[in-house]
Amino acid sequence: MLKIDDLHVAVGGNEILKGLSLDVPKGEVHAIMGPNGSGKSTLSYTVAGRDGYEATSGGVTLDGENMLDLDPDERAAKGLFLSFQHPMEIPGVQTMNFIRTAMNAQRKARGEDEVSAADFIRLIREKAKLVGLDDAKLKRQFNVGFSGGEKKRMEMLQMAMFEPRFAIMDETDSGLDIDALKMVGDVVNALRGPDRGFLVITHYQRLLDYIKPDAVHVLAGGRIVKSGGPELALALEKSGYEQFIEAA
Ligand code: ADP
Ligand code: MG
Ligand code: MG
Repeated sequence: MLKIDDLHVAVGGNEILKGLSLDVPKGEVHAIMGPNGSGKSTLSYTVAGRDGYEATSGGVTLDGENMLDLDPDERAAKGLFLSFQHPMEIPGVQTMNFIRTAMNAQRKARGEDEVSAADFIRLIREKAKLVGLDDAKLKRQFNVGFSGGEKKRMEMLQMAMFEPRFAIMDETDSGLDIDALKMVGDVVNALRGPDRGFLVITHYQRLLDYIKPDAVHVLAGGRIVKSGGPELALALEKSGYEQFIEAA
């Protein structure tokens, strides 16, 4: 489904990703763990198409289609979703309008009808309840003045609304308490299915108690240096990343 092939990415003149290859087959959830500064966010930005994060070589395809030549909104319309480690605030834009506009833009690009106002309200209320955000938050400016945990809930609200084909979650768990962590697990597990894939980036094994991954990869020094099953995450919790930093 998502195929990353020998990806090299330089940011500000420094090579950060140095030949990263990764395959996430349809229906699977893969976790990426790794030390600070190893390039996890760089990987997610490059796949999502953020400005300044361009591949110098290598490829990224979703269901065989090259993503690297597409604009970020075109990638989103193809069903690619990135939950940001540091979600942005958008002053002056009401949360509900922001999500509805993004949702309709994606649908339009796919040749689908816009969602009706009534259906949208019904849907967002249902999903907001699932992620633990009240109506008042939906009427506020997007993420403005929200706590770190609320911003992460807002990321999960968007994921639940957009129902992406492939979602990358960049440290969605950081800064969350146990209840919020369980909520993230609930959202992912509800969306999980044979046609959908996830790449879950995390520092800690804890989130993987709620989201059982099909595979775990260690990213260090700009490459995947080790892959295994869920037991690898448990082993890392004990051993730390030092061995990989030295090897990289
Ligand atoms: P991680 O998410 O694994 O902690 P990042 O991908 O955020 O790592 O960062 C990897 C490396 O790339 C770090 O050394 C970081 O300083 C550098 N880097 C990332 N983005 C930028 C940027 N916009 N400008 C300069 N350096 C960057
Ligand atoms: Mg980091
Ligand atoms: Mg990061």
